[in-house]
Amino acid sequence: MKKDDCIFCKIANGEIPSNTIYEDDLFRVILDNGPATKGHALVLPKDHSADIFEMPEDTLAKAMVVAKKVAGKLKETLSCDGLNIVQNNGECAGQTVHHFHIHLIPRYADDGQLIGWKPGSPSSEELEKVRKTINGES
Ligand code: AMP
Ligand code: ZN
Repeated sequence: MKKDDCIFCKIANGEIPSNTIYEDDLFRVILDNGPATKGHALVLPKDHSADIFEMPEDTLAKAMVVAKKVAGKLKETLSCDGLNIVQNNGECAGQTVHHFHIHLIPRYADDGQLIGWKPGSPSSEELEKVRKTINGES
């Protein structure tokens, strides 16, 4: 299902032009218009889901297969040295367009981009507490 006011629904379904590098019946992969690096691409499902929590499992699995296919194409054609897969859910996680998408970010040895996080240093007790919370043990 498409969502009327969603720009990625419109792009994925061809109502707004995009730099498409892959398309099939369920997905369109486009070049990001604010790329982190050369070839930064977005895997867009044609059906609307806001985020991973709303994504049907079968579509999600197929999205990763498309991501692999296009990652290979990017590596082959752009000769990148590596590639980050990023997928943001929720504003605090950096999501700005609330239509599920997977970022494919080719990496080059000298690209100077920063994609990462500041590692924490929890004690083993703190880690265990988190594990118990997640596993419903406390
Ligand atoms: P996120 O922050 O994970 O929601 O990612 C949204 C991404 O979509 C950003 O990297 C934007 O540069 C990109 N973006 C937003 N609008 C467009 C558009 N019309 N065409 C291509 N990329 C877009
Ligand atoms: Zn949408």
